[in-house]
Amino acid sequence: MNKKQRERYRKGLLEKREDLLTLVQAARTSEKEGGDEDAPDLGDRALSTMSRDLSYQLTVGERDLLRRVDAALDRMDANEYGICVACGKKVQIGRLDAVPWARHCIECQELQDQGEI
Ligand SMILES: [Zn+2]
Repeated sequence: MNKKQRERYRKGLLEKREDLLTLVQAARTSEKEGGDEDAPDLGDRALSTMSRDLSYQLTVGERDLLRRVDAALDRMDANEYGICVACGKKVQIGRLDAVPWARHCIECQELQDQGEI
């Protein structure tokens, strides 16, 4: 991977990070704003609980993704970006284009999905 490619992935990762932080921030704000006391009837109360649960789930998922993005940026700083953490071979460019924070090459990811590694 040349420097230009790496910088392109870094930019993509930083943009993703920015998106995620905005989402996490928005979810936190809506959690604070929630309050069942003001709901005039049961229907509204049920709805507000449901949407709060949903935003909580999204936040957990997005935070997990944020950790992966951060880890990818760390690997980039350590000059290990694009190298499979399991087998040490290069992660396919097509895979990095699809999943810039990928830690495994396609083969190792399949093994991991099957619980082999
Ligand atoms: Zn691998």
